[in-house]
Amino acid sequence: MPDIKSTMEGRLDNGESKLHHRKDLDLLHWKDMPKHLQFNPYIFTGYRPLLTFWGCLNSLFYLHNETINILTHAIPIVYILATVPPLMPWTQLWYLSWCHVLGIVSPWVGSFLYHLFMNIERGEKIYYRLLQLDMLGIWINQSFGAIPMVTATTYCLPGVIKWIFLIAYCLLSVWGFYKAMTAWSPWERRLCFLLPFTVRVILCLIRYFSIGGGDPGAFTHVILQDLVSVIGAAIGAMHIPEKWFPGTVDMYLNSHNIMHVLVVAAVYSMHVATMRDLQWMTRVNCSAAL
Ligand SMILES: [Zn+2]
Repeated sequence: MPDIKSTMEGRLDNGESKLHHRKDLDLLHWKDMPKHLQFNPYIFTGYRPLLTFWGCLNSLFYLHNETINILTHAIPIVYILATVPPLMPWTQLWYLSWCHVLGIVSPWVGSFLYHLFMNIERGEKIYYRLLQLDMLGIWINQSFGAIPMVTATTYCLPGVIKWIFLIAYCLLSVWGFYKAMTAWSPWERRLCFLLPFTVRVILCLIRYFSIGGGDPGAFTHVILQDLVSVIGAAIGAMHIPEKWFPGTVDMYLNSHNIMHVLVVAAVYSMHVATMRDLQWMTRVNCSAAL
């Protein structure tokens, strides 16, 4: 039979560990966070404390100020992997099919890992590695993900022009990759994608004036895929609406939440446009098309 003292100690230990466990789940205020996690001064509450790997994973199961950011990019990973691969023309255009699937899944994987583990107790260095992973996901989307659009638009143009566009797009994307991996400020991170974006604008003009190829029915989504993500990035950069109502949209509807939903909508447009372009390439007769 255990003596009273050890039973009491046992209870105390139990109580203490429960208390400790409870403390882990307590959410913090902006001013309690380390500098590298104070990136949005208008979000006051709901911050997870620094946690272990398992603590971060566990944070999937309670509400905090990153929950919406995590879920809005976790759900598309499951949905895309379950629905998109069977739709792809793997036999006719296997490399463009790979570019598309990789391009529309990658941003969510990087973002999901970044938001889930941003508060891991490994210091600032790991935080910046996670941020690079997030950037890498966006870069794969903007580079590989856009190759089907570049190919479709130049599909029926003379070979030299086709290759000039494709090589230029790849080189500017490589430059963007270097910039994305070495960027230190949020504005620098956004500008990494400016040059490939400029090429896409030129390709849109080519499509608009019917010089280039691609399914004409995809045009609206070709525009929307960039327009909606630029609006999302601008809302994120301007911290709207929390700038106007500091501390009132900590858990939901803050600029990063809105940006997450808008970029999902933008990638949906990219998917619709690419699927139409891929189908167009499988049936087009270039000598008759131009
Ligand atoms: Zn994010």
